[in-house]
Order: sequence, then C-alpha cells, then structure tokens
Amino acid sequence: MSRFAHPAGDRHAEVLPEDRPPHAPADLNSIDPAIWPRTSERIAGSLTIGGLDVRDLAKEFGTPLYVLDEHDFRAHAIDFRQAFHDGDVHYAGKAFLCREVARWIMQEGLGLDVCSAGELAVALSVGFPPDRITMHGNNKSIAELEKAVTVGVGHVVVDSFEEIARLGYLAEKHGARPKVLIRVTVGVEAHTHEFIATAHDDQKFGLSLSSGAAAEAARRILAMPSLELVGLHSHIGSQITDTAGFEVAARRLATLLVQIRDEHGVVLPELDLGGGYGIPYVDGDESPDMKVIADALREIVTTVCQSKGLPVPRLTVEPGRSIVGTAGVTLYEVGTVKDVEGLRTYVSVDGGMSDNVRTALYGADYTARLASRESTAAPMLSRLVGKHCESGDIVVRDLYLPADLVPGDLIAVAATGAYCRSLASNYNYLPKPAVVAVAGGKARVIVARETEEDLLRGQL
Ligand SMILES: *Cc1c(COP(=O)(O)O)cnc(C)c1O
Repeated sequence: MSRFAHPAGDRHAEVLPEDRPPHAPADLNSIDPAIWPRTSERIAGSLTIGGLDVRDLAKEFGTPLYVLDEHDFRAHAIDFRQAFHDGDVHYAGKAFLCREVARWIMQEGLGLDVCSAGELAVALSVGFPPDRITMHGNNKSIAELEKAVTVGVGHVVVDSFEEIARLGYLAEKHGARPKVLIRVTVGVEAHTHEFIATAHDDQKFGLSLSSGAAAEAARRILAMPSLELVGLHSHIGSQITDTAGFEVAARRLATLLVQIRDEHGVVLPELDLGGGYGIPYVDGDESPDMKVIADALREIVTTVCQSKGLPVPRLTVEPGRSIVGTAGVTLYEVGTVKDVEGLRTYVSVDGGMSDNVRTALYGADYTARLASRESTAAPMLSRLVGKHCESGDIVVRDLYLPADLVPGDLIAVAATGAYCRSLASNYNYLPKPAVVAVAGGKARVIVARETEEDLLRGQL
C-alpha cells in the first residue's frame, strides 16, 4: 500500500508528528513523467514545461504560480474520449474550471459537469453547448434550477424529493422537459484500491437505494409529465485506482433498473458511474490506464445488465482530477529556510494553504523538486510550508530537498492541477495566484493574479 493510500477514517495517522518520513529518493532532480506534466523536462538543470523555463515563467508572471500544461490536459481529455468512445465523458468542472479550460473541454468534444450557477455561468460565457452540460448538487437553489431549465442543460441530476417537485414545477412553467438522472446512493465508498460496501449511507448526497428512496424518486419523476427520467447516477469516491467498487455500484444500480422496468415498464437508457479515477502524486502511486478502466467498466455494465435481461445502457463517466491533476504544477519561491533542532528543515514558500489546502484538509501527499537548478547536494529532510498564520499550513509534510537550498530558489510541486485553484482562498488576504497555460514555448495568462484592489473590492 502506498503512503498515500489510507482509509478515510484513519486520516489522523497522516497528521501526527511521529509519522515516518519517506526514504530519500535516489535522485532529487528526477522528473517522473507519470507525476509531472507530459512536456516537463530539465534543460540545462532548470525545469521546463511546455517548452518554457520555470525561471522565465516566475520572472514574467510572479510566484506563486499555477502552470497548466495545455498539451497534457488535452491529451488526457482525448484519452478519455477515445477510451469511452461508445459513451459520454463529462469533465467535472469543480476540479478546476475557468473560461479557457471550458473551451478546451468543448473543443475536445467532452461534456461538462457543473454544480452551481457560477460554474454554469463560466461555461455559458464561452458558448459551451448547454445540452452537453450536466447540473449536479445536493442543494441547488430555485434560481439555479430555473437557470438550468431555461438555458436547456442536457441533464439535471436530482438529489432529493423537494428538488423533484421544484424542478417539475419549473420545467412546466417554462414549457421545458429536462432529462433527469437520479443520484443514487449505492452504499459504496471508495478510496484508492480499497472500498467499503454498506447497506445504508450516512451522507448528504443522493437518494438511498437500500431505503427505497431512489425507487420512490423514480415513481415521482415518472409521474411528472414535465420531467424525462433517462437514467441513474452514482459517484462512489475519489482517487480510485481499481474497478472493484464500480462493479459493486453497477450491480446495485442494475437491481434498481430492473425494479423500475418491472414496476413501470420503463427501460432507462443511461447509466452514469461518476468520476473518482486516481492519479499518481508521489513515487510508487499507481497510474491507472483509462483504456483498461473503460474496458473493465463496459464489461461490468454489459455483464450485469445482460444477466438481468436488460439492454446495455449508454455509459457516462465524469472524470475531474484524472484530466487536470497532473497537467498542473505550482511554482513557489523559497523564502526562509529554518533548521529546527536538527529534526528537519522547514522550507517556507510564498504561498501555502491558500493556494493548496489539500494537505491541511485531508493529509494529501505531493512530490516537490528544486526547479530553478539542479543540485548534487545531499538530501535534507524537509517540510515544505506556507506563509500563513497556522502551523497546519503545510504544502508537503515530509520530503527531501537538496541541502544547498537557498532563498530565491524555485520549488515546483507536481500534480496540483485539481482541487488547488478551485479550493483556493484569500486567507490572510493573500491574492489568489495566476494560472498560466503553457504550450509550444508560449505562455498565456488564463486566470489573472488577484491584486490588492481585488481584495478590497466591495468593502465598505
Ligand atoms: C467530484 C465529482 C466528480 C469528479 O471527481 P474526480 O475525483 O475529480 O474525478 C465526478 N462526479 C461527481 C458527481 C462529483 O461530485
């Protein structure tokens, strides 16, 4: 089991100080192509991404800086589209969405998942076709539902009885008939290659399969002429590297498809198995092959449905992290370097939990390298920390950096494309960093760095 793999309930183990540090990597300068963007390489010692030297990027755009490898992002999107050629791939915008990324998703022929009016507005602002958008959320407001109905989003995933009633009413009011999926809680919780299958669920998302709530939702939707029930949806977790959890979910969803067919004579044509495909963050993490996963999912759904005498539904998947995660890198400048009682060296950078909260939030692990030069100095047990007023403001808990590290050096943290910018905050009034897309030796600011003016806007 990799260091990163840990059951959700055991997060404490990851944040206790006595946690063992990892072994020093054989080569502190290595750039593992599985973890770093595809176009990354060291040229004359310095890390380059998309043909651009990180020292030039830092000089031109400042630090901290999110660097997004456009080629890597598009390649992952294409891999998914090809792997699921007979189904639909919707990019989960919550992993990281901005107008330019919405354009890339549109151009590569994928659909898009949104879960708020704001995410929807980003997509619509670049002309994303509404019929390729799915609206999610456990507490969509009436305004959000009305917007979804009036712009004609392709699917709404309903998450509660209240929502079914509201959506039905709003659709009728606007003379629309949205396609609806039921978010089913199937009692599977998956993290990496482990999953837990239970009979009931204690969480806010979805309508329970085991309690009968999901079947009741189907009854209510089918009774509403203004809603078109087209299928079932489930999302079982995140950072999953194995299909076993999806298999249990698909089996359980198939029993509901059978129940709906037997009770209503309705055969639902779509099955959405959600996202959650894992990516490698540190050495030794698995790097799932989408083609293998797609073939496995297709096989599972086909077998399960055929055994129940059901036609095979059209499959949808909703990857977020696995498209944008390894395409993104965060660049920081080293500030203070503090040796603490011979225990370890605290390397402080000019960002922290405001641009990457995942380490503080759930003990995530990352790979970081000295990026502005190569070094042959000895490995130094380090902790990469931010500049915030919190001792939990840690970017990488345990890592080795070269012992000759000095202020002004640039550190790159790999695989920060997903759930870093999208979860960023202004804690301590730090402006959110810019996002720069790199490709073919050219860099473009796709999200501008916030300014002090931005921080003061709207205040009395
Ligand atoms: C978060 C989420 C996803 C994407 O998850 P990833 O782990 O980024 O692939 C997909 N579908 C739903 C419903 C989600 O909530």
